[in-house]
Amino acid sequence: MSAVTDKHWMLEQTTWKTVRETPYEVAVLPWGATEAHNYHLPYGTDNIEAAQVAAEAARRAWEAGARIVVLPVIPFGVNTGQLDIRFCLNMNPSTQAALLADIAHSLEVQGVKKLVIVNSHGGNDFRQMIRELQPKCGVFICAVNWWSCVDSKPYFDEPGDHAGELETSVMMSIAPHLVLPLSKAGEGRAKKFRVKGLREGWAWAPRQWTKVSDDTGTGNPRSATVEKGEKYFDAVSERISGLLVELSAANLDDMYE
Ligand SMILES: [Zn+2]
Repeated sequence: MSAVTDKHWMLEQTTWKTVRETPYEVAVLPWGATEAHNYHLPYGTDNIEAAQVAAEAARRAWEAGARIVVLPVIPFGVNTGQLDIRFCLNMNPSTQAALLADIAHSLEVQGVKKLVIVNSHGGNDFRQMIRELQPKCGVFICAVNWWSCVDSKPYFDEPGDHAGELETSVMMSIAPHLVLPLSKAGEGRAKKFRVKGLREGWAWAPRQWTKVSDDTGTGNPRSATVEKGEKYFDAVSERISGLLVELSAANLDDMYE
């Protein structure tokens, strides 16, 4: 029988006695999506990434003295552009906002006044939800996208977007048992908008995924490696850990220099 390890910073792996005795400052909410990721990555990719980045960042922050707890991952993202792909399970932004409000309210009455969302899915955008919720809620809420909090260019030849080199490399490093050989992957070629402003990205509209990509990927995974994934995951965890340490120590009444 192996020894029980009580990870105080992982809510799902700790107990009431620990929770009762620990003065937690910051809750971390990993938020993913359930969706197809080319032919080689699993539907749970975003959830696995969000949970593992949050766990590793929190572990480091805990060891640096911060009082952090990682909540269970929310596995549903905004997938309105993928409704015609089986088991891309859409959760509308309005539903997400209601869910976020309920979690924030629970934390508020329990005296945990800081919440960090670690987002893993490009279709999720918590900024407007936080703007709306913040005046009604005594919890300070912020959001970070793990795939963009560290500049990916020095780490990858062609980071890509969905199931591309960056995401594939990270999955090869954190969940190798769930990644199929790259020979099974599609090219992840994304068709561009015909309209110039949308193509160039200074005008924006959501994309209709099945018209953009044949294999559901947008980004070429061919140059993905475990080593690239390990290095990037390490850099991302370190950066988010630093955020958690600072927030844990921050005085909410004195947030500006
Ligand atoms: Zn993804």
